[in-house]
Amino acid sequence: MYLPGVGPNRKKVLSSELGIETFGDLLEYYPYKHVDRTKIYKVHDLTGDMPFVQVVGHILSYETFEMGPGRERVVAHFTDGTGLMDLVWFNGGKYAKKNYLTGKEYLIFGRPSVFNNRLQVQHPDVEPSPADSPEKNEETGGPGFRPFYNTTDKMKKLNMTSRTVERLVKTLLDKLKEPLPETIPDFILGSRHLMGRDEALRAIHFPQSARQLEAARVRLKFEELFFVQLNILRYASDQRHKYRGYVFRRIGPVFNDFYQKNLPFELTAAQKRVMHEIRADVCSGRQMNRLLQGDVGSGKTLVALMAMLIALDNGYQACMMAPTEILAEQHLATLKDFLSDMPVRVELLTGMVKGKKRQEVLDGLLSGKVEILVGTHAVIEDTVQFRQLGLVVVDEQHRFGVAQRAKLWGKGLRVESLELSDASSANNGKASQLSTLNAQPSIPHVLVMTATPIPRTLAMTLYGDLDVSVIDELPPGRKPIRTTHVFETRMTSLYDGIRRQIREGRQVYIVFPLIEESEKIDLKNLEQGFEVLREAFPEFRLSKVHGKMKPHDKEEEMQRFVSGETQILVATTVIEVGVNVPNASVMVILDAQRFGLSQLHQLRGRVGRGADQSYCILVTPFKLSEDTRKRIDIMCETNDGFRIAEADLKLRGPGDLEGTQQSGIAFDLKIADIARDGQLVQMARDEAQKVINDDPTCQSARYQLLWSRLRQLRKGQINWSKIS
Ligand code: ADP
Ligand code: MG
Repeated sequence: MYLPGVGPNRKKVLSSELGIETFGDLLEYYPYKHVDRTKIYKVHDLTGDMPFVQVVGHILSYETFEMGPGRERVVAHFTDGTGLMDLVWFNGGKYAKKNYLTGKEYLIFGRPSVFNNRLQVQHPDVEPSPADSPEKNEETGGPGFRPFYNTTDKMKKLNMTSRTVERLVKTLLDKLKEPLPETIPDFILGSRHLMGRDEALRAIHFPQSARQLEAARVRLKFEELFFVQLNILRYASDQRHKYRGYVFRRIGPVFNDFYQKNLPFELTAAQKRVMHEIRADVCSGRQMNRLLQGDVGSGKTLVALMAMLIALDNGYQACMMAPTEILAEQHLATLKDFLSDMPVRVELLTGMVKGKKRQEVLDGLLSGKVEILVGTHAVIEDTVQFRQLGLVVVDEQHRFGVAQRAKLWGKGLRVESLELSDASSANNGKASQLSTLNAQPSIPHVLVMTATPIPRTLAMTLYGDLDVSVIDELPPGRKPIRTTHVFETRMTSLYDGIRRQIREGRQVYIVFPLIEESEKIDLKNLEQGFEVLREAFPEFRLSKVHGKMKPHDKEEEMQRFVSGETQILVATTVIEVGVNVPNASVMVILDAQRFGLSQLHQLRGRVGRGADQSYCILVTPFKLSEDTRKRIDIMCETNDGFRIAEADLKLRGPGDLEGTQQSGIAFDLKIADIARDGQLVQMARDEAQKVINDDPTCQSARYQLLWSRLRQLRKGQINWSKIS
């Protein structure tokens, strides 16, 4: 079968411009909008800011204007008896003059605008009036809803418009004798009241009514999301069958001692709930792979520590990985503090730990004497070998890719069943033997912590192989941070505010943007800004940190602020994650328009950690884009990280969100929108989960339709005839 109207040239253009190779691609090239063509407007009622409209009337006369060599502008003066308007062609005017006769009634379709006080429609669609020839209209979709398709500049030059695509789709749909094959089992369609695939694919292009269009959209979105979920859950289920997890059955002296003697405060209800979830995971025999989301300051570190102590109680080691040296060191200090007087050996491993000390740590890990290791990427290096690694905690997950996670799993890879039954084999534990002996290797549990709240729907789509726990509650006694927006013309009064806070004993962060492409300029700004601030606050001491400093110097400056020796910390975003100075109560963010929402929220999270009222001040120039305005407004309106993340998702779209690029599991979405179709994501998830639960090994005949469709989608090879 081939499609009339698609010769070799068009075929090439469709493929290179729109990626359309097959009939299936064409059918799934969904219109971006529809225009209701049931309504006919009066010229009299048109204004320059209306969307597409249609009117019926006739052309009074033509005028032609020279526009340079070989180019002319053709204007047709048009009326429907209620008013006058111009139809304007910058190209193709000759064709119009020849074909659209004066005095004859036409249906005009286009977007009205006003130019020189005259109403006009540029490059209108002109068709015979519906009264004249109803059949002709039928052919182009009739007077109902008219689909609009995105086209590229190159296509426009070749005279391939939205109308061209529309006609191709129409022709294809008419030619298809058989109904388009269904991809979703009847029982799901039935219970969820979803439209059949054939009807949906037809209606998405040429709906009879707004309701039918909506139902078609829902069905096609569901289908897309459903297969994404099915793919993810299948993958997760696979992993589960391949690997076992260590079982931490015991709650022993280490945990109990800590809980009874060292825990300085009551856990929040959310922390308790998450601990139960983790406990259930590590007792299940499955490998835990859990994402712990909690807003900045919600107490994730403590949860991580308690999980690690359970590992220790069961004879395993634990490891905690942070994205930066500063953070790793801070974690070390925090853990040691929590564990003071307890006989637990905690060590640090970063790029800065060298020579004899490093060797000591490595030896300790191998012998098992070092029970908790805190570090940076350095812990992934091959030289780092554990005796019995049972749990890995990864802080600030979006900085670690999936590949790194996998490498960490490998660290604990052991074959318990082999060791038990075949202790004499010299090679036991070698990964190459695993498959032949059909044993399930055990790998360490993984707890990934993030303060960048990923909206639930996105987490489900992208990290579907992780279970998600949420700490949705801050420790008691925290006052919500007050956020305000200040124009940079008002710096003096801002300085006064800062001064008052410092006199009351508080400390202040002042953040300059540093964005990689313009690093040099930004750094210069920081240096200059620092001098300005030093002059503005002669009575106080200031620290300065940025990412280009030597780690040691950075650490020293940071330490001066942490200890309270300096009152103001001037910094780039290096302080974004994890720094904990409860006495700091003011966060000033300069050029706030240059930061994304989640970054602003992260920065704000550096304050509000003590009992005092904290403030976040966003400083911007006077002129702001609309998007920036929205970002600033949301920041001033709420402290809720999840709401901010949702808003971020809506403003930026999922592709941009930090850390979402590497998933590789989700297919490209053509119609569904994770930011807006949250309910459908959930519904797709639920249905996919039911299928997986029912048929975890993908063998049941009941679901063959799904598994074969999924295989096709994975290969990107739906078997359609070529388009030409
Ligand atoms: P996160 O890593 O989630 O941003 P932290 O673990 O750094 O948060 O915790 C922030 C602060 O709150 C720390 O000083 C921590 O000791 C404290 N904290 C944690 N849990 C509680 C709790 N249940 N009650 C009171 N303070 C807590
Ligand atoms: Mg933290």
